[in-house]
Parts: sequence; C-alpha cells; structure tokens
Amino acid sequence: MNIKDNVKKVFTNAENQNGEHLEDCTDIKINNLNIDIGEHCTHCNKDTSLGSGLFVNRIPSDAEAELILNDEKFNVTVEGYMCYDCQLEYLDYLWV
Ligand SMILES: [Zn+2]
Repeated sequence: MNIKDNVKKVFTNAENQNGEHLEDCTDIKINNLNIDIGEHCTHCNKDTSLGSGLFVNRIPSDAEAELILNDEKFNVTVEGYMCYDCQLEYLDYLWV
C-alpha cells in the first residue's frame, strides 16, 4: 500500500464533529491540504496558547509548509498563529 492510500484510509475513517462517519473523503487532495496546527506558531512552532507567554501579541497566520510522509513530500498550508518574535523577524526581513 502506498502512502497516498494510507492517507486516504485515515480520512476515510474520519468522523465529523457529530461523530458521523465521513463517507466521501476518499478523493482527498493531499497537495494544497490545509492543516490546522491549533495555537502553535506557523513559523517556529512554539505554543502560543494562553499561559505560554506568547498569547498576547500573537496574530492569526498561515504559511506554506511541506508535509513529509515516508520521504514523500506534499505541499500544504499550515494555519495557526505567528508569535511576536517571528513577527519582529518578519518585519526586519521586510525593511532590509
Ligand atoms: Zn514563532
């Protein structure tokens, strides 16, 4: 079984929030998949949740990323937040 079949199987066995089985995810496109990384920074992957010290200055963010499964790479978008440190780095980059 190749990796795409494996991923397909994961999504085929997925359930929605109501616990209903999802029947029609078998044709999922792996490339361009959006992956929600929750409250982590999309650039350094630090936790920005309340109490982490990075909560106050975080901003919603998404970023291009590579998902690597068994050496096969897929282009995906991660959705999360950008921490303050990464915002400063990004501003430095813009103003160079
Ligand atoms: Zn960061």
